Amino acid sequence: MRSKLAVHQFLALLLCFLLIANLTGCGERNVPPPTVPLAPVVFEPLQESITKSYDELFGIAPKLEFTKAQIDRMREFQDQSKKHCSSNFENRARDYEKQMDTAQSELRRRTRDLGDAERKELHCEIQSLRLKKNRAETLAKQAIPVAYDNRLAKLDLIEFWPAELQQIRQEIKDGTHLNRPFGDVKDIGFREVGKGQEDDIKIGQDAVREMKQAGMLPPELEDENVKNYVTELTERIARKSDLRVPAKVTVLNSREVNAFALPGGFLYIQRGLLESVEDESQLAGVIAHEISHASARHGHRLMRKATIASIIYQTAQIAALVLTGGVAGIGTYYALQYGFYGLGLVLSLDLLGVSRDFELEADQLGVQYAWNAGFDPAGFTRFFDKMATREGYVNGASWFRTHPPFYKRMVHTQREIMFLPKKDNLVIQSTAFERMKFALKNVTAKAHEDEKKRPSLLKPEEDCPPVDMKEYKPGESIESLCPIPSAPAASSKAGKSDSK
Ligand SMILES: [Zn+2]
Repeated sequence: MRSKLAVHQFLALLLCFLLIANLTGCGERNVPPPTVPLAPVVFEPLQESITKSYDELFGIAPKLEFTKAQIDRMREFQDQSKKHCSSNFENRARDYEKQMDTAQSELRRRTRDLGDAERKELHCEIQSLRLKKNRAETLAKQAIPVAYDNRLAKLDLIEFWPAELQQIRQEIKDGTHLNRPFGDVKDIGFREVGKGQEDDIKIGQDAVREMKQAGMLPPELEDENVKNYVTELTERIARKSDLRVPAKVTVLNSREVNAFALPGGFLYIQRGLLESVEDESQLAGVIAHEISHASARHGHRLMRKATIASIIYQTAQIAALVLTGGVAGIGTYYALQYGFYGLGLVLSLDLLGVSRDFELEADQLGVQYAWNAGFDPAGFTRFFDKMATREGYVNGASWFRTHPPFYKRMVHTQREIMFLPKKDNLVIQSTAFERMKFALKNVTAKAHEDEKKRPSLLKPEEDCPPVDMKEYKPGESIESLCPIPSAPAASSKAGKSDSK
């Protein structure tokens, strides 16, 4: 019986895929909107708390009085919201695709008798639908999951940080914090963190060469003031780190907000990151983090299984697809839309040494290096906050691919900051930084001008009416895309029984 049923189910499913999918949309995954699980008197303050910055939450979490049950309900709600919101935009993307198919078949059917004006109108329609589809896909796959993952990380923080904080205080009190891995911060530069760093130089050089040949690297930024400032800052931190090979930093003229390190001390800082950081300690934190990947040889350790050739082949292939517009991946989307390669979106995470464990290690070492070089180590957390809370997604998407948000990361970083010996006069801001920002303004203005002139692969038809699509601007909360269901169904018993 059972197997017969299974066969039937299978056949039904197959039929659905083969025959009906196009008519009824079997492929669509409609996730219903979640119901608000708590009474407003609990829901609203908790909702407000998880939109606060990590930095602020570290301060107030111990004073918040939400129960574990309430937090659990909120977690389910956020998780369900994520699924609902993503599926909503996935379905929109599918709709746009269908409309595009319809418009394209009309174009085919009437190609002989279309007048110029009608043809242009159809071209514009297809172009607009293509943009909308790409935008909806990007939101569904990137922006929406990241926004909700940040919320979930903050719920974890509210639940677990108070106990963690007590533990940290206890460890400082009895001195056991000195036994932590890499606890020997007074010996930075003299201890062994990643033996054999010099062996990575060749890998890094090969990767750089291959990437250049594949046309993956955006042009270098040419302004001497900006370049010199970033180089000096990097060298200043590198000198106070465990890096034993020369740090070679390149500033790329692209609007992407990101930085990455290739094995062997090759650091890349992108213009968007320089535009985004608010003070020197934030930039120092990011650079120190990237130096850590090189000093601890994370790229090397992740790459041991794969050959460099396979990674490069992969990236070269992606670059080719980007150039021809053959793939609708997220990196491609940005490349087509803005005329730059979302490098952080297409590079192999193995090559960059990104994995959960290595991120934790790089966060810890990065905080140590920034501190050792005299910068406020909390700059890194503040920058993360900025990206998570205010920056929106357009330019920051690749930041979150290479710097995934999760609770353990934030706590691990905060722990390390608290364990570091106190130092006076840690630098947050400098006039050199402000001068760099000033010089950067001209570079940015010029880049924007150039971008306007550059033809976009996504908009081959000119002078079309503006595309009316759902925007998700920096600083907006995710609810601007997926509003919270208004009637708190829950005013209900569930919430009340919970609230104190
Ligand atoms: Zn990293």
